[in-house]
This record gives sequence, structure tokens and C-alpha cells, in this order.
Amino acid sequence: MANTSPVTDTAEAAERIAELGQRAGLVEVVPVGAVTAGLAGEQLAELGLMASSRARVRVFSDDGKCVHDSRVMRRALEYVKAFDGVISQHAQDPNLAGKSSCCHEGELSGRLGLPGWPSIAEESIVARDVMLARHTGSRVHIAHVSTAGSVEVLRWAKAQGINVTAEVTPHHLMLTTDLLAAYDPVFKVNPPLRPAEDVEALRTALADGTIDAVATDHAPHVRHDKEHAFIDAAFGMLGLETALPVVCTAMVESGMMGWERVAEVMSIAPARIARSETQGRPLAPGAPANLTLVDPHRERVIDRSSSLPFPQQPVARPVSDRNRRAHDAAWSHYCPTGQRSWEGV
Ligand SMILES: [Zn+2]
Repeated sequence: MANTSPVTDTAEAAERIAELGQRAGLVEVVPVGAVTAGLAGEQLAELGLMASSRARVRVFSDDGKCVHDSRVMRRALEYVKAFDGVISQHAQDPNLAGKSSCCHEGELSGRLGLPGWPSIAEESIVARDVMLARHTGSRVHIAHVSTAGSVEVLRWAKAQGINVTAEVTPHHLMLTTDLLAAYDPVFKVNPPLRPAEDVEALRTALADGTIDAVATDHAPHVRHDKEHAFIDAAFGMLGLETALPVVCTAMVESGMMGWERVAEVMSIAPARIARSETQGRPLAPGAPANLTLVDPHRERVIDRSSSLPFPQQPVARPVSDRNRRAHDAAWSHYCPTGQRSWEGV
């Protein structure tokens, strides 16, 4: 995401991140560019220059903050259309859910005395942005969808042929707002955990294609950022290592999705949305292959961490042999024929 220091709002900053990733050589690092300069929500960042830079930025987001000004959002959508870019929106109307809002607004937030983060703060931005996407004919992507109302809007928008895609996090597919009752900051995340009805709607939407992808919203905080009173602790939780096991538990073991759909929502669709030419593709002789191998029968205990919300959850199922990169003749070693569920993972 672009909320780096300094903010990724110029071609130079984007190229620098891409270079650092290349130099490390562990995984492919593709920077997301900021929508507005300094994530301030006022002036557009160097969208065109980032797109034409060596970093080839196609996804732009002020994530962490909402592009709240409708005029700025409209201009951004118009601008990125020229190079098939996409604006990824952190949907949170700051007038309805401010910086201190940290608990789903409802009976529980009242009882706990925590500032509420109402569903409508997300849904009103999702509704506005799908209409802006229709108006501009451009692509909008909704990050970390968390409410049943947002799902309803997305379902309608897709039925109209509006160019909108959406993602859900593993934790919003698994955890509910009642976990906040013990004031454990490990469950403090933005958008907040929602009631079971929302979790159910998100699972259904992921299974039926209304939500296109799973994205982790991974937030690796240092211990002292998280170990505070709930109200003062940092937002966010770990999610990378547990993403696949959580999706497996919530969607595959529940019978809502098969492994081919898992490959679609965790690899193929994200690559398509980001216009990546090197990820999420079927294996082919002679073509580079980025693979994640999954052993669904292997179990692994996940260590407790101050930012990991799944210590006792039944999620430690498949273990991935992540990000193996194979070339040419080597690919057949990693993908024996008949293992269709591995394609594009
Ligand atoms: Zn966000």
C-alpha cells in the first residue's frame, strides 16, 4: 500500500519500492500508488507518471484513509481510465466514522463504551463510488468489504454491468464483533469486526462471485503498538501466514467453496484486478510459474502473537510451500499432471 514513509505518491518512490523488492529477490513486489499527494485527500498524486514509470503502477489507493471528496474521486477515476488503472477505495466516510471509531456501532459498542463505526459509513461510500464508476466508465475496487449492506450494493452494481470489484479479508470471514467484549486489542482492526449476519453475507458473496477476491490487509505492528488499552492500541492484525488456512476453514471446510474457487479468489482475480502479467496464470510449458503449493492434510500450530487474532481458532490446516518460482523444465516438477487445483495458485 502507499502509506509508506515517504508516501508512495511519485514515480521515484514507486520505482524505489519496486527496486528494493527486486534486490531482495524473495517475492515479486508491486507497489500501490497513492491517489492523492501525501494521502491528504486533496490534490491528485502523480498517477500518470507512476503508471508510466518502471514500476508500472496500476493500482492506486489512499488505504488507511478514504478518498472522501467526491470531486477528487471522480477526477482520479477519470485519470486512471487512460492506462487501465484502478482506484482501490478504503470505504469509510470520516464524518460518520472518525479516527477514534473502533467498534462496530451497535448494542455492544454502547455497552463497552467504545466509539462506534457504523456500517453506513462504509456502505454510503461504496454506493457513491459505484455510481462514480458508472458515470466515468472507469474501474473501482472496494477494499476490505465488511458489511451485508455493502454486499447488497455490489450485487446490484454488478448486475448493472458497472465496472466494480471487491475484496474481503480472512478475518472478516471468520471473526465477529462479540470478540471485543474482553477489550483485547488483538481484535482491533479497521474496518471493525462485524456481527455474524455480516460474516454470513460476506461468505455467501465470496462464494457467489459478488466479492471477487480475498486480501489480507496484513498489518505487522510491533508489540508496543498493540499492547495498550483497547482505545489507544493500533488498528490492524497479522494475516499473511494465516490467510489460506482461514479461507480453508471458513469456505472450503464449510462446503461453500471448492479449491478451484480458492485459487480464483486468492490468485487469479487479484492478478486480474491489478493487471499483473506475471501472477495468477495457468501453468504453461516455457512460461515462468509463480506457485504456492498446498498440502491440505498437513497441520501446523501457529504461534501466539500480540497481533495474531487466531491463536485458538481451528485454522492451522493447510501449509503452503510459498512462492516457489519455477522456470521452463522445472515447472513439471512442481505441477504433476492431474493436479488441476494447483493451476494458477
Ligand atoms: Zn484500509
